[in-house]
Amino acid sequence: MTRVLVLNCGSSSVKYRLFDVPPNAQAGAGAGTAAAAPGGAGEVAAPLVVATGVVEQIGERVPGAPRDHAEALAAVMSDLPLEGLTAVGHRVVHGGLTFTTPALVDDAVLAAIADLVPLAPLHNPANLAGIEVARALLPGTPQVAVFDTAFHRTLAPAASTYAIDAATAERYGIHRYGFHGTSHAIVSRRTAALLGRPLDEVNTITLHLGNGASACAVEGGRSVATSMGLSPLEGLVMGTRSGDLDPAIIFHLHRVAGMPFAEIDNLLNRRSGLTGLAGVNDMRTLLTRRAAGDRAAALAFDVYCRRIRSYVGAYYAELGRLDAITFTAGVGENAPAVRAAALTGLDRLGIAVDPARNDSPERGARVISPPEAPVAVCVVPTDEEWEIASQTLAVVAGPR
Ligand code: ADP
Repeated sequence: MTRVLVLNCGSSSVKYRLFDVPPNAQAGAGAGTAAAAPGGAGEVAAPLVVATGVVEQIGERVPGAPRDHAEALAAVMSDLPLEGLTAVGHRVVHGGLTFTTPALVDDAVLAAIADLVPLAPLHNPANLAGIEVARALLPGTPQVAVFDTAFHRTLAPAASTYAIDAATAERYGIHRYGFHGTSHAIVSRRTAALLGRPLDEVNTITLHLGNGASACAVEGGRSVATSMGLSPLEGLVMGTRSGDLDPAIIFHLHRVAGMPFAEIDNLLNRRSGLTGLAGVNDMRTLLTRRAAGDRAAALAFDVYCRRIRSYVGAYYAELGRLDAITFTAGVGENAPAVRAAALTGLDRLGIAVDPARNDSPERGARVISPPEAPVAVCVVPTDEEWEIASQTLAVVAGPR
């Protein structure tokens, strides 16, 4: 049994999960590449979740709440049974172009993550704080950084290049990095396993629909297109983020409305998407209001689903041949109405949702398209923590 702790340190929260991993769950562990992460199509042995939890309100002046990540992590770790711990895996949001695989943390890796702070000012500082504190509290235990961006480093230049002045883009790191990589990786792998086919033969569009949302075209296990870009703002409509928009809207708001850039940043990241359109970021509430005849909720739902459909069309064209479309994360796993609406009218493309299968209360990985449909529409629960744990163990095991 191997014990691994996964830490996801956000700006005001720490999420953690402690796994005991049976030896056969690590069979097939690759040399640390996202695509070769453990499990493969087999992924049989279930890890045991020893502990899981979240500490909120770090740094806020809430009586009794931890003042910083050091305090929060110290409290978490004092409560956890960490004897025999093999490694700690850290979620790191931005790995830039530097990190194409998970990395065993040393001073150089920490410096490189710090260099990427301008690209992820909200996320990387907290991720970094988590690694530094865990390193100090658990000296001698290997720490591994697992990057949200790494899975997308297989994008071809034509898919990752923005059509702006090339010298400016080069100088300032303007590039499609993509995010949610650990989720797209595990979900595309589990889709191939669900269909009983080798990963390298399956082309999938994965739709991660949580509070943040992104689409990914996965060709034989490799990301070839993804909807988030330089930052997680681009692409699908999200709980509070706009996703795609005309960049001139930003200049217009600045020039005509006199909004400072910090305010526009806040508007697009926190007061847009479902929140901007209907005043609510929770899909459950939105669906309830829509059912009650709320027109703003109905429009928000339509804009949300239409955007997903546009990406499905674009990524079908990108892939040429499509085997599966997979929904995952809070909305993708739990909102049949969204799945049905997003894929409506695509029968001519071989894409259809079976109403009974879609509405079934079944949990777990499942197919919701009609039998024999050319494209399998699937629901596959994501498990980013387990993916981080798997990749962490693969790095610690070293190249095979
Ligand atoms: P995060 O990105 O924070 O990890 P999640 O993957 O947990 O987010 O997804 C959160 C979203 O999932 C919320 O919009 C929530 O409303 C939605 N959600 C969760 N359960 C359901 C449900 N039963 N029906 C519809 N939406 C749901």
